Amino acid sequence: MSDNYDVIVIGGGPGGYVAAIRCAQLGLKTACVDKWINKEGAPALGGTCLNVGCIPSKALLESSEKYEEAGHHLDVHGINVAGVSMDLPKMIQRKDKIVSDLTGGIAQLFKANKIEWLQGHGKLLAENKVSVTAHDGTESVFAAKNVIIATGSNPINIPSAQLLDDRIVDNEGALNWETVPARLGVIGAGVIGLEMGSVWRRLGSEVVVLEAMDTFLGAVDQQVAKQAHKQFKQQGLDIKLGARLNNTVVGDNELTLEYSDKDGDQTVTVDRLIVAVGRRPNTDNIADESVGLAMDDRGRVNVNDYLETNIPGVYAIGDVVRGPMLAHKAEEEGVVTAERIAGQQSKMHYDAIPWVIYTNPEIAWAGKTEEQLKEEGVTYKSGTFSFAVNGRAKAMEQASGLVKVLADETTDRILGMHFVGPMASELVGQAVIAMESQNTTEDLARTVFAHPSLSECIHEAAFAADGRAIHGINRRR
Ligand code: FAD
Ligand code: NAD
Repeated sequence: MSDNYDVIVIGGGPGGYVAAIRCAQLGLKTACVDKWINKEGAPALGGTCLNVGCIPSKALLESSEKYEEAGHHLDVHGINVAGVSMDLPKMIQRKDKIVSDLTGGIAQLFKANKIEWLQGHGKLLAENKVSVTAHDGTESVFAAKNVIIATGSNPINIPSAQLLDDRIVDNEGALNWETVPARLGVIGAGVIGLEMGSVWRRLGSEVVVLEAMDTFLGAVDQQVAKQAHKQFKQQGLDIKLGARLNNTVVGDNELTLEYSDKDGDQTVTVDRLIVAVGRRPNTDNIADESVGLAMDDRGRVNVNDYLETNIPGVYAIGDVVRGPMLAHKAEEEGVVTAERIAGQQSKMHYDAIPWVIYTNPEIAWAGKTEEQLKEEGVTYKSGTFSFAVNGRAKAMEQASGLVKVLADETTDRILGMHFVGPMASELVGQAVIAMESQNTTEDLARTVFAHPSLSECIHEAAFAADGRAIHGINRRR
Protein backbone atom coordinates (compact mmCIF):
# COMPACT_ATOMS: atom_id res chain seq x y z
CA MET A 1 0.00 0.00 0.00
CA SER A 2 1.35 3.45 -0.97
CA ASP A 3 0.63 6.89 0.52
CA ASN A 4 -2.50 7.94 2.36
CA TYR A 5 -4.37 10.93 0.98
CA ASP A 6 -7.17 13.12 2.25
CA VAL A 7 -8.64 13.06 -1.25
CA ILE A 8 -8.05 11.05 -4.41
CA VAL A 9 -9.80 12.37 -7.50
CA ILE A 10 -10.33 9.86 -10.32
CA GLY A 11 -10.32 11.80 -13.60
CA GLY A 12 -8.47 15.00 -14.50
CA GLY A 13 -11.03 16.78 -16.72
CA PRO A 14 -12.71 20.10 -15.78
CA GLY A 15 -14.57 18.40 -12.91
CA GLY A 16 -11.61 16.45 -11.55
CA TYR A 17 -8.75 18.89 -11.96
CA VAL A 18 -10.76 21.78 -10.50
CA ALA A 19 -11.84 19.61 -7.54
CA ALA A 20 -8.20 18.64 -6.96
CA ILE A 21 -7.00 22.26 -7.02
CA ARG A 22 -9.75 23.42 -4.66
CA CYS A 23 -9.02 20.50 -2.28
CA ALA A 24 -5.33 21.43 -2.23
CA GLN A 25 -6.16 25.11 -1.64
CA LEU A 26 -8.16 24.01 1.39
CA GLY A 27 -5.15 22.20 2.84
CA LEU A 28 -6.15 18.65 1.89
CA LYS A 29 -3.45 16.21 0.78
CA THR A 30 -4.65 15.46 -2.76
CA ALA A 31 -3.86 13.15 -5.67
CA CYS A 32 -5.54 13.02 -9.08
CA VAL A 33 -5.52 9.86 -11.20
CA ASP A 34 -5.92 10.37 -14.93
CA LYS A 35 -5.43 8.03 -17.87
CA TRP A 36 -5.63 10.43 -20.83
CA ILE A 37 -2.98 9.97 -23.54
CA ASN A 38 -2.94 12.83 -26.04
CA LYS A 39 -2.43 12.63 -29.81
CA GLU A 40 1.34 12.97 -29.31
CA GLY A 41 1.22 9.85 -27.12
CA ALA A 42 1.91 11.67 -23.85
CA PRO A 43 -0.19 11.75 -20.66
CA ALA A 44 -2.21 14.99 -20.45
CA LEU A 45 -4.58 16.57 -17.96
CA GLY A 46 -7.74 18.45 -18.92
CA GLY A 47 -9.95 15.53 -20.02
CA THR A 48 -12.35 15.71 -22.92
CA CYS A 49 -12.86 19.45 -22.65
CA LEU A 50 -9.28 20.56 -23.10
CA ASN A 51 -8.01 17.74 -25.30
CA VAL A 52 -10.83 16.95 -27.74
CA GLY A 53 -13.84 19.03 -26.72
CA CYS A 54 -14.58 22.63 -25.76
CA ILE A 55 -11.17 24.14 -26.44
CA PRO A 56 -10.05 22.58 -29.75
CA SER A 57 -13.55 22.90 -31.21
CA LYS A 58 -13.66 26.60 -30.33
CA ALA A 59 -10.19 27.09 -31.83
CA LEU A 60 -11.41 25.63 -35.14
CA LEU A 61 -14.69 27.56 -34.97
CA GLU A 62 -12.67 30.77 -34.61
CA SER A 63 -10.25 29.97 -37.47
CA SER A 64 -13.01 28.89 -39.84
CA GLU A 65 -15.09 31.94 -38.94
CA LYS A 66 -12.20 34.26 -39.80
CA TYR A 67 -11.65 32.41 -43.09
CA GLU A 68 -15.30 32.78 -44.05
CA GLU A 69 -15.30 36.44 -43.05
CA ALA A 70 -12.16 37.19 -45.04
CA GLY A 71 -13.54 35.39 -48.08
CA HIS A 72 -17.13 36.60 -48.06
CA HIS A 73 -18.00 39.27 -45.52
CA LEU A 74 -15.42 42.04 -45.71
CA ASP A 75 -16.43 43.67 -48.98
CA VAL A 76 -19.45 45.25 -47.29
CA HIS A 77 -17.00 47.21 -45.13
CA GLY A 78 -15.22 48.38 -48.28
CA ILE A 79 -12.34 46.00 -47.69
CA ASN A 80 -11.30 44.17 -50.83
CA VAL A 81 -9.44 40.95 -50.20
CA ALA A 82 -8.36 38.75 -53.04
CA GLY A 83 -6.96 35.25 -53.09
CA VAL A 84 -7.98 34.16 -49.60
CA SER A 85 -6.80 30.62 -48.99
CA MET A 86 -6.64 28.28 -46.06
CA ASP A 87 -3.56 26.46 -44.76
CA LEU A 88 -5.27 23.59 -42.98
CA PRO A 89 -2.20 21.98 -41.38
CA LYS A 90 -1.38 25.41 -39.90
CA MET A 91 -4.93 25.76 -38.57
CA ILE A 92 -4.63 22.32 -36.91
CA GLN A 93 -1.19 23.19 -35.49
CA ARG A 94 -2.58 26.39 -33.94
CA LYS A 95 -5.39 24.37 -32.36
CA ASP A 96 -2.89 21.79 -31.06
CA LYS A 97 -0.71 24.53 -29.57
CA ILE A 98 -3.68 26.03 -27.70
CA VAL A 99 -4.50 22.56 -26.35
CA SER A 100 -0.93 21.84 -25.25
CA ASP A 101 -0.55 25.31 -23.65
CA LEU A 102 -3.72 24.81 -21.62
CA THR A 103 -3.19 21.17 -20.65
CA GLY A 104 0.43 21.97 -19.74
CA GLY A 105 -0.89 24.86 -17.65
CA ILE A 106 -2.92 22.44 -15.54
CA ALA A 107 0.16 20.30 -14.92
CA GLN A 108 1.86 23.49 -13.68
CA LEU A 109 -1.07 24.29 -11.41
CA PHE A 110 -0.88 20.75 -10.00
CA LYS A 111 2.82 21.28 -9.20
CA ALA A 112 2.17 24.69 -7.64
CA ASN A 113 -0.61 23.24 -5.48
CA LYS A 114 1.40 20.10 -4.60
CA ILE A 115 -1.16 17.77 -6.14
CA GLU A 116 0.16 14.31 -7.01
CA TRP A 117 -0.69 13.40 -10.64
CA LEU A 118 -1.05 9.61 -10.77
CA GLN A 119 -0.94 8.54 -14.44
CA GLY A 120 -3.06 5.54 -15.33
CA HIS A 121 -6.46 3.94 -14.77
CA GLY A 122 -8.01 4.51 -11.35
CA LYS A 123 -10.48 2.12 -9.77
CA LEU A 124 -12.36 2.47 -6.50
CA LEU A 125 -11.84 -0.46 -4.13
CA ALA A 126 -13.50 -1.24 -0.80
CA GLU A 127 -12.77 1.07 2.18
CA ASN A 128 -12.10 4.04 -0.13
CA LYS A 129 -8.88 2.64 -1.48
CA VAL A 130 -7.98 3.34 -5.10
CA SER A 131 -5.94 1.09 -7.37
CA VAL A 132 -3.96 2.78 -10.12
CA THR A 133 -2.87 0.76 -13.14
CA ALA A 134 -0.07 2.78 -14.71
CA HIS A 135 0.38 2.95 -18.48
CA ASP A 136 3.16 0.33 -18.21
CA GLY A 137 0.72 -2.06 -16.49
CA THR A 138 2.12 -1.82 -12.94
CA GLU A 139 -0.51 -1.56 -10.23
CA SER A 140 -0.38 0.44 -6.97
CA VAL A 141 -3.02 0.86 -4.29
CA PHE A 142 -3.54 4.13 -2.41
CA ALA A 143 -5.73 4.86 0.60
CA ALA A 144 -7.85 7.99 0.90
CA LYS A 145 -10.31 9.47 3.39
CA ASN A 146 -12.38 10.71 0.43
CA VAL A 147 -12.64 9.80 -3.24
CA ILE A 148 -14.14 11.98 -5.98
CA ILE A 149 -15.16 10.16 -9.16
CA ALA A 150 -14.90 12.49 -12.18
CA THR A 151 -14.48 10.05 -15.04
CA GLY A 152 -16.51 12.06 -17.57
CA SER A 153 -18.17 10.72 -20.69
CA ASN A 154 -17.49 9.08 -24.06
CA PRO A 155 -19.19 9.47 -27.45
CA ILE A 156 -22.11 7.11 -28.15
CA ASN A 157 -21.45 4.75 -31.06
CA ILE A 158 -24.23 3.58 -33.33
CA PRO A 159 -24.20 0.31 -35.33
CA SER A 160 -25.47 2.10 -38.46
CA ALA A 161 -22.28 4.20 -38.63
CA GLN A 162 -19.28 2.39 -37.13
CA LEU A 163 -16.16 4.54 -36.83
CA LEU A 164 -13.71 3.94 -39.68
CA ASP A 165 -10.19 5.45 -39.74
CA ASP A 166 -10.51 9.13 -40.77
CA ARG A 167 -13.65 8.55 -42.88
CA ILE A 168 -16.30 7.95 -40.21
CA VAL A 169 -15.29 9.83 -37.08
CA ASP A 170 -16.56 11.14 -33.76
CA ASN A 171 -15.75 14.56 -32.29
CA GLU A 172 -12.08 13.65 -31.92
CA GLY A 173 -11.49 12.70 -35.56
CA ALA A 174 -13.39 15.75 -36.79
CA LEU A 175 -10.81 17.99 -35.11
CA ASN A 176 -7.86 16.65 -37.04
CA TRP A 177 -8.63 16.50 -40.76
CA GLU A 178 -5.97 18.22 -42.82
CA THR A 179 -8.02 18.23 -46.03
CA VAL A 180 -11.57 19.49 -46.54
CA PRO A 181 -14.08 16.79 -47.51
CA ALA A 182 -16.06 17.95 -50.53
CA ARG A 183 -19.23 16.33 -49.15
CA LEU A 184 -19.60 15.89 -45.40
CA GLY A 185 -22.35 14.01 -43.59
CA VAL A 186 -23.14 14.66 -39.93
CA ILE A 187 -25.36 12.37 -37.85
CA GLY A 188 -27.11 14.39 -35.13
CA ALA A 189 -28.08 18.07 -35.23
CA GLY A 190 -27.10 18.56 -31.59
CA VAL A 191 -24.38 20.75 -30.17
CA ILE A 192 -21.40 18.90 -31.65
CA GLY A 193 -23.09 18.28 -35.00
CA LEU A 194 -23.91 21.96 -35.44
CA GLU A 195 -20.55 23.24 -34.21
CA MET A 196 -18.38 20.81 -36.22
CA GLY A 197 -20.74 20.95 -39.22
CA SER A 198 -20.29 24.75 -39.18
CA VAL A 199 -16.50 24.49 -39.05
CA TRP A 200 -16.29 22.26 -42.14
CA ARG A 201 -19.02 24.12 -44.06
CA ARG A 202 -17.08 27.37 -43.60
CA LEU A 203 -13.94 25.64 -44.81
CA GLY A 204 -15.72 24.55 -47.99
CA SER A 205 -17.59 21.28 -47.41
CA GLU A 206 -21.12 20.74 -48.64
CA VAL A 207 -22.71 19.61 -45.36
CA VAL A 208 -25.80 17.44 -44.86
CA VAL A 209 -26.98 16.81 -41.29
CA LEU A 210 -29.33 13.92 -40.49
CA GLU A 211 -31.30 14.46 -37.29
CA ALA A 212 -33.62 11.75 -35.97
CA MET A 213 -35.99 14.13 -34.14
CA ASP A 214 -38.71 16.07 -35.97
CA THR A 215 -38.01 19.21 -33.94
CA PHE A 216 -34.83 21.22 -34.42
CA LEU A 217 -32.97 21.73 -31.11
CA GLY A 218 -35.90 20.49 -29.06
CA ALA A 219 -34.39 21.55 -25.72
CA VAL A 220 -33.89 25.13 -26.88
CA ASP A 221 -36.57 27.83 -26.68
CA GLN A 222 -38.37 27.29 -29.99
CA GLN A 223 -38.53 30.97 -30.96
CA VAL A 224 -34.74 31.01 -30.75
CA ALA A 225 -34.31 27.60 -32.40
CA LYS A 226 -36.48 28.66 -35.38
CA GLN A 227 -34.41 31.82 -35.96
CA ALA A 228 -31.19 29.82 -35.80
CA HIS A 229 -32.55 27.11 -38.12
CA LYS A 230 -33.47 29.72 -40.71
CA GLN A 231 -29.99 31.23 -40.64
CA PHE A 232 -28.24 27.84 -40.80
CA LYS A 233 -30.33 27.00 -43.88
CA GLN A 234 -29.40 30.33 -45.51
CA GLN A 235 -25.73 29.50 -44.88
CA GLY A 236 -26.18 26.22 -46.72
CA LEU A 237 -26.27 23.71 -43.85
CA ASP A 238 -28.70 21.09 -45.16
CA ILE A 239 -30.41 19.89 -41.95
CA LYS A 240 -32.79 17.00 -42.55
CA LEU A 241 -35.18 16.54 -39.60
CA GLY A 242 -36.97 13.29 -38.80
CA ALA A 243 -34.16 11.48 -40.64
CA ARG A 244 -33.06 8.22 -39.04
CA LEU A 245 -29.88 6.59 -40.31
CA ASN A 246 -30.36 2.88 -41.04
CA ASN A 247 -27.04 1.93 -42.58
CA THR A 248 -23.83 3.29 -44.03
CA VAL A 249 -22.49 1.60 -47.14
CA VAL A 250 -18.72 2.06 -47.30
CA GLY A 251 -17.46 2.36 -50.85
CA ASP A 252 -13.88 2.76 -52.03
CA ASN A 253 -14.13 6.53 -52.17
CA GLU A 254 -17.52 7.45 -50.79
CA LEU A 255 -20.04 6.65 -48.09
CA THR A 256 -23.70 6.10 -48.88
CA LEU A 257 -25.98 6.99 -45.99
CA GLU A 258 -29.23 5.03 -46.07
CA TYR A 259 -31.87 6.75 -43.95
CA SER A 260 -35.62 6.98 -43.57
CA ASP A 261 -37.76 10.05 -43.14
CA LYS A 262 -41.48 10.83 -43.45
CA ASP A 263 -41.29 10.25 -47.22
CA GLY A 264 -39.75 6.77 -46.90
CA ASP A 265 -36.31 5.36 -47.56
CA GLN A 266 -33.66 7.79 -48.81
CA THR A 267 -29.94 7.86 -49.57
CA VAL A 268 -27.32 10.56 -49.63
CA THR A 269 -23.68 10.14 -50.65
CA VAL A 270 -20.85 11.84 -48.79
CA ASP A 271 -17.05 11.61 -48.61
CA ARG A 272 -16.70 11.67 -44.83
CA LEU A 273 -19.02 11.39 -41.86
CA ILE A 274 -19.11 12.80 -38.33
CA VAL A 275 -21.18 10.84 -35.81
CA ALA A 276 -22.42 13.13 -33.01
CA VAL A 277 -25.45 11.45 -31.45
CA GLY A 278 -24.74 12.20 -27.79
CA ARG A 279 -22.40 11.03 -25.04
CA ARG A 280 -22.64 8.37 -22.37
CA PRO A 281 -21.25 8.51 -18.83
CA ASN A 282 -17.89 6.80 -18.50
CA THR A 283 -18.34 4.19 -15.78
CA ASP A 284 -16.14 1.52 -17.40
CA ASN A 285 -14.33 -0.41 -14.68
CA ILE A 286 -14.37 2.55 -12.26
CA ALA A 287 -15.32 0.59 -9.13
CA ASP A 288 -14.79 -2.93 -7.92
CA GLU A 289 -18.02 -4.91 -7.64
CA SER A 290 -17.40 -5.42 -3.92
CA VAL A 291 -17.84 -1.65 -3.40
CA GLY A 292 -21.52 -1.71 -4.45
CA LEU A 293 -21.40 1.76 -6.04
CA ALA A 294 -24.99 2.61 -7.01
CA MET A 295 -25.86 3.74 -10.53
CA ASP A 296 -29.03 5.55 -11.61
CA ASP A 297 -31.54 4.40 -14.23
CA ARG A 298 -29.46 5.93 -17.04
CA GLY A 299 -26.18 4.28 -16.10
CA ARG A 300 -24.69 7.33 -14.37
CA VAL A 301 -23.15 7.28 -10.89
CA ASN A 302 -26.06 8.03 -8.56
CA VAL A 303 -25.58 11.12 -6.39
CA ASN A 304 -27.72 13.25 -4.09
CA ASP A 305 -27.95 17.06 -4.07
CA TYR A 306 -24.52 17.19 -2.39
CA LEU A 307 -22.79 15.00 -4.99
CA GLU A 308 -22.53 12.17 -2.45
CA THR A 309 -22.77 8.58 -3.72
CA ASN A 310 -24.19 5.72 -1.65
CA ILE A 311 -20.68 5.03 -0.29
CA PRO A 312 -19.63 7.28 2.64
CA GLY A 313 -16.69 9.49 1.64
CA VAL A 314 -17.18 8.82 -2.09
CA TYR A 315 -18.49 11.64 -4.31
CA ALA A 316 -19.09 11.92 -8.06
CA ILE A 317 -19.20 15.00 -10.29
CA GLY A 318 -19.34 16.16 -13.91
CA ASP A 319 -20.49 14.23 -16.98
CA VAL A 320 -20.58 10.92 -15.06
CA VAL A 321 -23.54 12.17 -12.96
CA ARG A 322 -27.00 13.61 -13.75
CA GLY A 323 -27.41 17.11 -15.16
CA PRO A 324 -26.09 18.82 -18.28
CA MET A 325 -22.81 17.55 -19.74
CA LEU A 326 -21.04 20.89 -19.58
CA ALA A 327 -17.53 21.80 -18.47
CA HIS A 328 -18.59 24.72 -16.27
CA LYS A 329 -21.18 22.54 -14.50
CA ALA A 330 -18.47 19.92 -13.85
CA GLU A 331 -16.05 22.59 -12.58
CA GLU A 332 -18.54 24.08 -10.16
CA GLU A 333 -19.47 20.64 -8.84
CA GLY A 334 -15.73 20.12 -8.26
CA VAL A 335 -15.49 23.30 -6.19
CA VAL A 336 -18.61 22.49 -4.18
CA THR A 337 -17.47 18.93 -3.46
CA ALA A 338 -13.99 20.01 -2.34
CA GLU A 339 -15.51 22.61 -0.02
CA ARG A 340 -17.96 20.13 1.48
CA ILE A 341 -15.13 17.64 2.11
CA ALA A 342 -13.32 20.49 3.91
CA GLY A 343 -16.39 21.00 6.11
CA GLN A 344 -17.98 23.98 4.36
CA GLN A 345 -21.73 24.19 3.56
CA SER A 346 -21.41 24.86 -0.19
CA LYS A 347 -24.25 23.79 -2.50
CA MET A 348 -24.70 23.64 -6.27
CA HIS A 349 -27.23 25.95 -7.94
CA TYR A 350 -28.53 24.26 -11.06
CA ASP A 351 -31.28 26.72 -12.07
CA ALA A 352 -29.16 29.18 -14.03
CA ILE A 353 -26.44 27.09 -15.64
CA PRO A 354 -25.76 28.66 -19.02
CA TRP A 355 -25.75 26.74 -22.31
CA VAL A 356 -23.97 28.01 -25.39
CA ILE A 357 -23.84 26.67 -28.92
CA TYR A 358 -20.88 28.39 -30.60
CA THR A 359 -22.28 28.50 -34.13
CA ASN A 360 -22.92 31.65 -36.12
CA PRO A 361 -25.34 32.88 -34.95
CA GLU A 362 -24.39 31.86 -31.44
CA ILE A 363 -27.21 30.40 -29.37
CA ALA A 364 -27.19 30.79 -25.59
CA TRP A 365 -29.61 30.55 -22.73
CA ALA A 366 -30.05 30.16 -19.00
CA GLY A 367 -33.16 29.10 -17.10
CA LYS A 368 -36.50 28.00 -18.46
CA THR A 369 -37.70 28.02 -22.05
CA GLU A 370 -41.17 29.29 -22.94
CA GLU A 371 -42.20 25.70 -23.72
CA GLN A 372 -41.10 24.55 -20.23
CA LEU A 373 -43.02 27.36 -18.52
CA LYS A 374 -46.17 26.46 -20.46
CA GLU A 375 -45.77 22.79 -19.59
CA GLU A 376 -45.27 23.64 -15.91
CA GLY A 377 -48.35 25.89 -15.94
CA VAL A 378 -46.40 28.97 -14.82
CA THR A 379 -48.01 32.30 -15.67
CA TYR A 380 -45.25 34.29 -17.30
CA LYS A 381 -44.57 37.34 -19.40
CA SER A 382 -42.13 37.59 -22.24
CA GLY A 383 -40.14 40.43 -23.75
CA THR A 384 -38.08 40.12 -26.92
CA PHE A 385 -35.81 42.54 -28.68
CA SER A 386 -34.17 42.15 -32.05
CA PHE A 387 -30.49 42.76 -32.83
CA ALA A 388 -31.73 44.10 -36.20
CA VAL A 389 -32.25 47.59 -34.75
CA ASN A 390 -29.27 47.62 -32.37
CA GLY A 391 -26.58 50.14 -33.35
CA ARG A 392 -23.62 48.01 -32.26
CA ALA A 393 -24.92 44.89 -34.02
CA LYS A 394 -25.38 46.95 -37.21
CA ALA A 395 -21.84 48.35 -36.89
CA MET A 396 -20.62 44.77 -36.53
CA GLU A 397 -22.66 43.78 -39.62
CA GLN A 398 -24.31 41.13 -37.46
CA ALA A 399 -27.75 42.65 -37.01
CA SER A 400 -29.88 39.55 -36.80
CA GLY A 401 -31.27 37.43 -33.99
CA LEU A 402 -32.92 38.35 -30.73
CA VAL A 403 -32.81 38.51 -26.97
CA LYS A 404 -35.77 37.12 -25.03
CA VAL A 405 -36.56 37.55 -21.36
CA LEU A 406 -39.13 35.37 -19.59
CA ALA A 407 -40.38 36.44 -16.16
CA ASP A 408 -43.01 35.43 -13.66
CA GLU A 409 -46.21 37.39 -14.44
CA THR A 410 -46.91 38.07 -10.76
CA THR A 411 -43.50 38.57 -9.13
CA ASP A 412 -41.65 39.82 -12.24
CA ARG A 413 -38.71 37.57 -11.30
CA ILE A 414 -36.64 36.50 -14.31
CA LEU A 415 -37.12 32.80 -15.07
CA GLY A 416 -35.20 32.45 -18.31
CA MET A 417 -33.18 34.43 -20.83
CA HIS A 418 -32.48 33.35 -24.41
CA PHE A 419 -30.17 34.68 -27.08
CA VAL A 420 -29.56 34.02 -30.74
CA GLY A 421 -27.12 36.39 -32.39
CA PRO A 422 -23.73 38.04 -32.01
CA MET A 423 -21.70 37.32 -28.85
CA ALA A 424 -24.58 35.41 -27.26
CA SER A 425 -21.93 33.39 -25.39
CA GLU A 426 -20.81 36.55 -23.57
CA LEU A 427 -24.26 38.14 -23.16
CA VAL A 428 -25.61 35.07 -21.39
CA GLY A 429 -23.25 35.84 -18.49
CA GLN A 430 -25.42 38.86 -17.70
CA ALA A 431 -28.48 36.62 -17.68
CA VAL A 432 -26.80 34.26 -15.21
CA ILE A 433 -25.84 37.08 -12.85
CA ALA A 434 -29.36 38.53 -13.03
CA MET A 435 -30.96 35.15 -12.32
CA GLU A 436 -28.53 34.20 -9.54
CA SER A 437 -29.24 37.62 -7.98
CA GLN A 438 -32.98 36.92 -8.23
CA ASN A 439 -33.46 40.04 -10.34
CA THR A 440 -36.73 41.15 -11.91
CA THR A 441 -37.23 42.61 -15.40
CA GLU A 442 -37.74 45.94 -13.61
CA ASP A 443 -34.21 45.61 -12.13
CA LEU A 444 -32.81 45.16 -15.64
CA ALA A 445 -34.99 47.98 -17.00
CA ARG A 446 -33.65 50.32 -14.28
CA THR A 447 -30.01 49.41 -15.01
CA VAL A 448 -27.94 51.67 -17.26
CA PHE A 449 -26.23 49.80 -20.10
CA ALA A 450 -23.44 51.23 -22.28
CA HIS A 451 -24.37 52.68 -25.65
CA PRO A 452 -23.84 51.43 -28.24
CA SER A 453 -23.55 47.84 -27.05
CA LEU A 454 -25.19 44.49 -27.69
CA SER A 455 -26.19 44.48 -24.01
CA GLU A 456 -28.70 47.20 -24.75
CA CYS A 457 -30.84 44.44 -26.27
CA ILE A 458 -31.11 42.91 -22.79
CA HIS A 459 -32.24 46.29 -21.46
CA GLU A 460 -34.81 46.63 -24.24
CA ALA A 461 -36.06 43.04 -23.86
CA ALA A 462 -36.65 43.78 -20.17
CA PHE A 463 -38.60 46.91 -21.15
CA ALA A 464 -40.49 44.89 -23.75
CA ALA A 465 -41.62 42.40 -21.08
CA ASP A 466 -43.68 45.31 -19.78
CA GLY A 467 -44.75 46.57 -23.19
CA ARG A 468 -42.47 49.61 -23.10
CA ALA A 469 -39.45 48.93 -25.35
CA ILE A 470 -38.08 52.26 -26.47
CA HIS A 471 -36.60 51.28 -29.81
CA GLY A 472 -39.06 48.57 -30.80
CA ILE A 473 -42.70 48.01 -31.55
CA ASN A 474 -44.28 46.65 -28.37
CA ARG A 475 -46.26 43.47 -28.68
CA ARG A 476 -46.90 41.70 -25.34
CA ARG A 477 -46.74 37.93 -25.91
P1 FAD B 1 -14.03 14.70 -18.87
O1 FAD B 1 -13.62 16.02 -19.40
O2 FAD B 1 -14.54 13.69 -19.82
O3 FAD B 1 -12.75 14.13 -18.12
C1 FAD B 1 -12.72 12.86 -17.56
C2 FAD B 1 -11.26 12.45 -17.41
O4 FAD B 1 -11.22 11.27 -16.63
C3 FAD B 1 -10.58 12.13 -18.73
O5 FAD B 1 -9.28 12.68 -18.74
C4 FAD B 1 -10.49 10.60 -18.72
O6 FAD B 1 -9.36 10.11 -19.44
C5 FAD B 1 -10.32 10.35 -17.24
N1 FAD B 1 -10.73 9.02 -16.80
C6 FAD B 1 -11.88 8.37 -17.09
N2 FAD B 1 -11.92 7.19 -16.43
C7 FAD B 1 -10.78 7.11 -15.71
C8 FAD B 1 -10.25 6.16 -14.83
N3 FAD B 1 -10.92 5.07 -14.50
N4 FAD B 1 -9.04 6.40 -14.29
C9 FAD B 1 -8.33 7.51 -14.59
N5 FAD B 1 -8.80 8.46 -15.41
C10 FAD B 1 -10.01 8.27 -15.96
N6 FAD B 1 -18.79 21.81 -22.61
C11 FAD B 1 -18.88 23.15 -22.40
O7 FAD B 1 -19.25 23.55 -21.29
N7 FAD B 1 -18.59 24.04 -23.37
C12 FAD B 1 -18.18 23.66 -24.60
O8 FAD B 1 -17.93 24.49 -25.46
C13 FAD B 1 -18.08 22.28 -24.86
N8 FAD B 1 -17.67 21.85 -26.06
C14 FAD B 1 -17.53 20.50 -26.27
C15 FAD B 1 -17.13 20.10 -27.54
C16 FAD B 1 -16.99 18.75 -27.80
C17 FAD B 1 -16.53 18.31 -29.17
C18 FAD B 1 -17.22 17.80 -26.76
C19 FAD B 1 -17.01 16.34 -27.02
C20 FAD B 1 -17.63 18.20 -25.52
C21 FAD B 1 -17.80 19.57 -25.26
N9 FAD B 1 -18.24 20.03 -24.04
C22 FAD B 1 -18.38 21.37 -23.82
C23 FAD B 1 -18.56 19.11 -22.93
C24 FAD B 1 -17.38 19.04 -21.95
O9 FAD B 1 -16.23 18.61 -22.65
C25 FAD B 1 -17.69 18.08 -20.82
O10 FAD B 1 -18.92 18.45 -20.21
C26 FAD B 1 -16.60 18.13 -19.77
O11 FAD B 1 -15.36 17.76 -20.32
C27 FAD B 1 -16.93 17.19 -18.60
O12 FAD B 1 -15.90 17.23 -17.67
P2 FAD B 1 -15.58 15.97 -16.74
O13 FAD B 1 -14.45 16.40 -15.89
O14 FAD B 1 -16.82 15.49 -16.10
O15 FAD B 1 -15.12 14.82 -17.73
P1 NAD C 1 -26.54 16.12 -28.32
O1 NAD C 1 -27.35 15.38 -27.35
O2 NAD C 1 -26.38 17.58 -28.18
O3 NAD C 1 -27.14 15.90 -29.79
C1 NAD C 1 -27.27 14.63 -30.36
C2 NAD C 1 -28.31 14.73 -31.44
O4 NAD C 1 -28.27 13.52 -32.18
C3 NAD C 1 -29.72 14.87 -30.90
O5 NAD C 1 -30.37 15.94 -31.55
C4 NAD C 1 -30.36 13.53 -31.21
O6 NAD C 1 -31.74 13.63 -31.48
C5 NAD C 1 -29.60 13.11 -32.45
N1 NAD C 1 -29.56 11.67 -32.66
C6 NAD C 1 -29.39 10.69 -31.74
N2 NAD C 1 -29.36 9.48 -32.35
C7 NAD C 1 -29.49 9.71 -33.69
C8 NAD C 1 -29.51 8.88 -34.83
N3 NAD C 1 -29.36 7.56 -34.73
N4 NAD C 1 -29.66 9.46 -36.05
C9 NAD C 1 -29.78 10.81 -36.16
N5 NAD C 1 -29.78 11.65 -35.09
C10 NAD C 1 -29.62 11.11 -33.88
O7 NAD C 1 -25.14 15.37 -28.38
P2 NAD C 1 -23.75 15.78 -29.02
O8 NAD C 1 -23.92 16.81 -30.07
O9 NAD C 1 -23.09 14.48 -29.35
O10 NAD C 1 -23.01 16.42 -27.79
C11 NAD C 1 -22.89 15.70 -26.57
C12 NAD C 1 -22.87 16.64 -25.42
O11 NAD C 1 -21.61 17.29 -25.34
C13 NAD C 1 -23.87 17.78 -25.51
O12 NAD C 1 -25.15 17.40 -25.13
C14 NAD C 1 -23.28 18.76 -24.55
O13 NAD C 1 -23.63 18.37 -23.24
C15 NAD C 1 -21.79 18.57 -24.76
N6 NAD C 1 -21.28 19.60 -25.67
C16 NAD C 1 -21.42 20.90 -25.31
C17 NAD C 1 -20.97 21.90 -26.17
C18 NAD C 1 -21.15 23.32 -25.78
O14 NAD C 1 -21.42 23.56 -24.61
N7 NAD C 1 -20.99 24.27 -26.70
C19 NAD C 1 -20.41 21.57 -27.39
C20 NAD C 1 -20.31 20.23 -27.72
C21 NAD C 1 -20.74 19.26 -26.85
